[in-house]
Amino acid sequence: MVARQDLTSDPRLQDALLQARRGTAFFARKLNELSDDELDGDSLLPGWTRRHVAAHVGYNARAIARLVEWAATGVETPMYPSPQARNQEIDFGATLSPIALRNLFDHSSVHLNVEWRDLPDASWSNHVKTAQGRTVPASETVWMRTREVWLHAVDLNNGAGFNDIPAPILERLLDDITAAWKTRGTDNGLVIAPRGSERGFGDVSNPDAATITGTLAEITAWAAGRSGIDATLPAPVWI
Ligand code: ZN
Repeated sequence: MVARQDLTSDPRLQDALLQARRGTAFFARKLNELSDDELDGDSLLPGWTRRHVAAHVGYNARAIARLVEWAATGVETPMYPSPQARNQEIDFGATLSPIALRNLFDHSSVHLNVEWRDLPDASWSNHVKTAQGRTVPASETVWMRTREVWLHAVDLNNGAGFNDIPAPILERLLDDITAAWKTRGTDNGLVIAPRGSERGFGDVSNPDAATITGTLAEITAWAAGRSGIDATLPAPVWI
């Protein structure tokens, strides 16, 4: 018998799943607001049309579902065979008919949701590997997807903004982005201090650090490479 509710009884995980589902619903809403012709228009990402964004978000759900299946079965199934294969798949997906593209998003989202729903408590701590090679518990897949759907809803470039993204998600995004800067060694001398937030992000232990401030939404948009607060401080595009 198939469960109709999440098998996990962990309230934190249930809450995280709710955020992922809200983000998925938000992306679906923005995608549905676009006419078939408008799918050909530019996204916010360099070189990508809205079709590329929709295809990527669909294939990303499939890739994350492979990680959840890995956690459930112990059979290693990576997100993508290679970075090249990932990119080729997106380019291919962008050529699909509008109905096929919309079906890709809908079906892959439902499939991922079923994989999450049916994963028993004991399997959520099983380790899987992300496309970047990080080993993470299966529970991390929920955040991985949450980040994608909210951010790429903005990238559809039809009215969604960082103001639409819940504050806890923006803060966690800032944590991810500044951690990536630290890994690359590009966070030197920069602290991000959103107005109204109790903590800073980035190079916080450096007393000589320059501080960038703005609303949480503005500053996260900038850090994610989606808007210019200060063009002299380029932020890499986060996809
Ligand atoms: Zn992405």
